[in-house]
Amino acid sequence: MARYTGAVCRLCRRENQKLFLKGDRCYSEKCAMARRAFPPGQHGQNQMRRKTSEYGLQLRAKQKAKRYYGVLESQFAKYFEMAERKQTGITGENLLRILESRLDNVVYRAGFAMSRKEARQLVLHRHFKVNGRIVDIPSFLVKEGDKVSVKSVDSGKIKESAEKNGARPLPAWMTKEGEQMAVAITKLPEREDIDFDIEEQLIVELYSK
Ligand code: SF4
Repeated sequence: MARYTGAVCRLCRRENQKLFLKGDRCYSEKCAMARRAFPPGQHGQNQMRRKTSEYGLQLRAKQKAKRYYGVLESQFAKYFEMAERKQTGITGENLLRILESRLDNVVYRAGFAMSRKEARQLVLHRHFKVNGRIVDIPSFLVKEGDKVSVKSVDSGKIKESAEKNGARPLPAWMTKEGEQMAVAITKLPEREDIDFDIEEQLIVELYSK
């Protein structure tokens, strides 16, 4: 399964926004965005002064969303098609809703992993169930009413992440299931439920060219 394996902090620096790709480190003073908040590369500091074209802004919005959710180009294009085909809703919001519904994102948002990358690994290693059945596909899309649970509540790494992430608020579209390591999807998220600073309309404009 294809995935990006390069240095991730440079992706945040390129987008000039924290994308939270490294777990613990993203919340510490070691975050590269706190220390070197300019684009990567030899001429990074000079690039800050350049004016970005309309196309450039649209491209950056798409790249930012892909990187934030850890999705590669072809899969992202498929999500856009899905979003466009939906009978209801605004395409940009539909796109974000689909990305948020990915199982690796749900595991991260629920606090069972420190980053989406870690969540993806945990899903691939068969640590999660959806409605009582093991699902090992990070791109699996959850639906309203689904229940996502940890296969074994004794799983040390997941427990540790859940404890560390206790302070991170649970999104409004999911609820914790009692004392168990599980969440229920009460509804799919609306735009205001998604705390991702992006102008999704720019992505729609890019694909509409
Ligand atoms: Fe981005 Fe996290 Fe690296 Fe900071 S530490 S630059 S938020 S990946």
